[in-house]
Amino acid sequence: MPITAVTNQTALMRQNPNYVQYANGVCYQAIAALENFNSALVDCEEGDRICDVIERLFFVGPGDFGWNQVVDAIRVIVGYTRHGLRDTNLTINVGWYNFVNANLAPTVINLAAVQMYNDYQFVRYLIHEATHLFADTIDHAERGYTDHDGNYRQAGLTAAEALVNADSVAVAVTLFVFGFLN
Ligand SMILES: [Zn+2]
Repeated sequence: MPITAVTNQTALMRQNPNYVQYANGVCYQAIAALENFNSALVDCEEGDRICDVIERLFFVGPGDFGWNQVVDAIRVIVGYTRHGLRDTNLTINVGWYNFVNANLAPTVINLAAVQMYNDYQFVRYLIHEATHLFADTIDHAERGYTDHDGNYRQAGLTAAEALVNADSVAVAVTLFVFGFLN
């Protein structure tokens, strides 16, 4: 199982006593979502739903200059994130914030307990943090975080920034695979 421990799990245990099993179920959903997303991205064409999702979050569509480069860059991030989630013995630390420290704690993902009561949010934030850990993504404050509808909280993120922005990837995958965020 990818997740070998869930620490500080009091709040989660009230929700589900089999917390490690539950977290692994979500982790496998995330792995499957990442795989599903990358498969759909191969040979996608204008009008495909995944192209609309990419255009919405990365500002580049199938007819645009740079489209192939954008698709390749996203596929690399998604692939590394999937392999990382699949092949790493992870600890989920349940607390107040979502964050990781790839250098100091490369096998720990900190998640806010509130995000773990909803499977879709859990998948989204697990993918978000996993892209930091395994694919070197960063955040761009309010320009780069999205709301629960998948809209950026503030305008101004550039196409180049989106390609290394954690929430762009997490939201694109979650929106495409589930059709909504929560
Ligand atoms: Zn982040």
